[in-house]
Amino acid sequence: MGPDEHANGGALMGDTPGRFFLPGPTEVHPDVLAAQTKPMIGHRGSAIKELMASIDRGLRPVFVTEHPVIVSTSSATGLMEAALRNGVTGGKVLSLITGAFSKRFAAIGTSCGFDVDEWEVEWGTVHSPGDLADRLASESYDAVTLSQSETSTGSLHDLAAIADVVAGHPDTLLLVDSVTGIGGVETRPDEWGVDFILTGSQKALALPPGLAFGVASERMMERSKEAQGRGWYFALDRLMDQLVSHQTPATPAISLLYALDLQLERILDEGMEARWERHLAMQARTFEWVADMRSQGVGIDVFAAEGARSPTVTCVAMPGGEGASAVVAEMAARGWVIGGGYGKLSESTIRIGHMGDHTVDELNGLLEVLGDVLR
Ligand SMILES: *Cc1c(COP(=O)(O)O)cnc(C)c1O
Repeated sequence: MGPDEHANGGALMGDTPGRFFLPGPTEVHPDVLAAQTKPMIGHRGSAIKELMASIDRGLRPVFVTEHPVIVSTSSATGLMEAALRNGVTGGKVLSLITGAFSKRFAAIGTSCGFDVDEWEVEWGTVHSPGDLADRLASESYDAVTLSQSETSTGSLHDLAAIADVVAGHPDTLLLVDSVTGIGGVETRPDEWGVDFILTGSQKALALPPGLAFGVASERMMERSKEAQGRGWYFALDRLMDQLVSHQTPATPAISLLYALDLQLERILDEGMEARWERHLAMQARTFEWVADMRSQGVGIDVFAAEGARSPTVTCVAMPGGEGASAVVAEMAARGWVIGGGYGKLSESTIRIGHMGDHTVDELNGLLEVLGDVLR
């Protein structure tokens, strides 16, 4: 290994699958990587229509929706902006903040010129549906934003309960960043009444970065038509018009679509229930390992509060609140990649992305080495 490869996320893992545990981008199966090398096709011919039709059939069960799933050539942040630009027509936005990514959602709203109320709870905890009900009873909002799984802290909202509260307010849309949710966490947008939910390709779906996906409710599509500031590239009506005829308004990332088509097949072969179960099993194993380390006198802890923890990413608090980057570097030197802390938690926590196609067996391999490094 060269010196560069010792940096966080810099190790070259191509020869050793099962060792790349960043909370995004996540490890991509070699067959899925290879699918990207197929030759180009025109983006207005019948070949792309067939490809998009196949992708459409695969995406709906993954998103547990009857709606067409929007495929955007952008990272997930692009669709966070789309959510706000299409979902807000002049009223206020209530941003539920639980960490760095939900804070970004609020910042996007402010940058777009919207009046955003930031409501931040202590990092590691989540908003309670009851408190949200009180807030919405006293003030009216065009939209509520949140991150379902907050990747910077490893916390998880009870999305079904939150959606239930927002559903009581017909003029308020629920816009959800589910970037480390969908594909790893049981999520039912239609059944729960979520107005817009989005994710990116490079997290629990275990694809290369560069695509984002979104599902819009009828309410969202209606609101979008009135949203003067929705722009062109991310206008939901334009995206949807094209999507129903298996087209895209602009040139899509064709190579990534090849990878997506294959990965959807792999995901559905496993089955969504089985995929959610596997993520819960990896989460349980990680918690068991933390408890085991503590019993050996290593003062680490799960950062997120009990009962509000994400099945896809665990943020581990370091003993004495320091030393995270040294641990990440030592892991890299041993050929394993984990995430450092994010933002203000950079030195006080490490993060294990147990999501995507990883297995409990692979995770056990990681935890054994990590235990060694921490001891
Ligand atoms: C990674 C992530 C994002 C940002 O996604 P990009 O694809 O980098 O734009 C947003 N929200 C959450 C919760 C994330 O984990």
